[in-house]
Amino acid sequence: MTSEVNQKRVAIFGSTGSIGTQALDVIRGNKDIFHVEVLTAHTNDELLTAQALEFNPNAVVIVDETKYEKIKSALSGTDIKVFAGERALEEVADFDTYDIMIAAIVGFAGLKPTLKAVEKGKIIALANKETLVVAGDIVMQKALENRAPIIPVDSEHSAIFQCLVGESRNPIERIILTASGGPFLGKKPNFLVNVKRDHALQHPNWSMGAKITVDSATLMNKGLEMIEAKWLFNLTPEQIEVVVHPQSVIHSMVQFEDGSIKAQMGYPDMKLPIQYALGFPNRIKNDFPRFNFRKYPNLSFEEPDYKTFRNLGLAIDALQNGGNKACVLNAANEIAVWAFLKNRIGFLDITAVVEKTMEAIPFIKHPTLEDYFESDGEARNFAASIIKL
Ligand code: NAD
Ligand code: MG
Repeated sequence: MTSEVNQKRVAIFGSTGSIGTQALDVIRGNKDIFHVEVLTAHTNDELLTAQALEFNPNAVVIVDETKYEKIKSALSGTDIKVFAGERALEEVADFDTYDIMIAAIVGFAGLKPTLKAVEKGKIIALANKETLVVAGDIVMQKALENRAPIIPVDSEHSAIFQCLVGESRNPIERIILTASGGPFLGKKPNFLVNVKRDHALQHPNWSMGAKITVDSATLMNKGLEMIEAKWLFNLTPEQIEVVVHPQSVIHSMVQFEDGSIKAQMGYPDMKLPIQYALGFPNRIKNDFPRFNFRKYPNLSFEEPDYKTFRNLGLAIDALQNGGNKACVLNAANEIAVWAFLKNRIGFLDITAVVEKTMEAIPFIKHPTLEDYFESDGEARNFAASIIKL
């Protein structure tokens, strides 16, 4: 199918995940505005094939090369191009045929294709926060040079972005990132020591992929989001505050120099920030449920428990020290969360692995992109060695 004039051509990197499938829900409801050009997945060939048959993209990528033949034959009656392997992600990100990338791959694996799209000057709807955590200075600098707008999909950052519309002349005094507190809000280490995978995967307000759900339970997610906010909005660490708000109705806030605070609110539903990023600068009419204040008479706020959820402190350390610290923090966390999901380590061990890895990997004040890749690899190896993977 050829796309109509003025349709935005969308490439969804990580189309089979939580964000990817919700992005396709948004597009399904707005086929006059959006056309799917590219879909990519790691291993889930069946869902990728079904998505390809429904949305008829120009190309699909499956990272797991053993699935190539299966997809190729399932799509043989179409003219959809099929690519396989990690390198193919970058090759397809380099295509001229799309306008906007939804960066919805999880983890460090999203960095290379997103950087490629940035270098091409594409619009980036960024869900993959790890891209900015690892190499935020380089990604933002390249985005500036190539005039690639980066529009956050992460709900907190989308909220801040929305609060900043019309405020380009007004400096930010501080931002307030809200945190739900996750499933273990109020719990102490004597409880957390026994927490298992399935318990950590029950998030009270959001349904998300496994990695970010564990990150939300350990509060690492909020730490990653502080670093993400620093790069997106050019803030100092002192300008970034976190407040626990268990209802997840206020998605985040900006305070300006006159003390006035703007907030963006609504039910917790990622389709809204996804749709906002896709449609920006326009808001697209939809029939999502409308928020009812009477059903939420008590919106509450509290200080995070830094003593119990020490990941937040480790992320603040990375935020303040800069250099390759956040890259190392992220790599160790990816390994530790993976090991926790495989029942190889306990919940509290996640923090111990990250902390030890941050102590062990040499600090680089001004890393190059190659330094980031090296630090990532070293940190993964070190973290894996202490877990004895
Ligand atoms: P998910 O695990 O549900 O999906 C991840 C997607 O990435 C899948 O399509 C998978 O095939 C692909 N993928 C995984 N590993 C890959 C690899 N090594 N190479 C290439 N592709 C790979 O994750 P998710 O919850 O959709 O999260 C995606 C990103 O969005 C994460 O960075 C997360 O922090 C961020 N995010 C998610 C939510 C949410 O509600 N799910 C909210 C805010 C931010
Ligand atoms: Mg978030």
